[in-house]
Amino acid sequence: MTRTASCSCGRLTVTMAGDPPFVGLCHCHECQKQTGSVFGAWTYWPKTACKEIRGEAKLYRRIAESGRWVDNYFCPHCGSSVYSYAEFAPDEICVAAGNFADPTIAPPTMAVWSECRHPWVRLPEGCRQLLQDTGSPEI
Ligand SMILES: [Zn+2]
Ligand SMILES: [Zn+2]
Repeated sequence: MTRTASCSCGRLTVTMAGDPPFVGLCHCHECQKQTGSVFGAWTYWPKTACKEIRGEAKLYRRIAESGRWVDNYFCPHCGSSVYSYAEFAPDEICVAAGNFADPTIAPPTMAVWSECRHPWVRLPEGCRQLLQDTGSPEI
């Protein structure tokens, strides 16, 4: 089984095999601004699960609050950010959960930067909530 994520105009697509081994939320301000939503919802996969990337993509590298880089690839035609690579996960590709437009994508099991969470956001049962990055204590 494959899953295909696409940008808003459909010209940039990423096709992944199987299900994402990890789905997480990030409430940080950078993710809020990148996505235009109030949190980022991210699926993480081994790079080997990526079967195809089609279409033109532009790169925006940002330096996270941790000081490490995150390379975000977005469609130059419609501006949707679709996938990224992060210094902290060199063997993985991250695909924005919403770009699959598929409610069967697994729910998140971990949320980070909870201190930036909008108070009306409710997380699924059992989702771990951490302050700041993944190395921080749970709340
Ligand atoms: Zn597009
Ligand atoms: Zn974030």
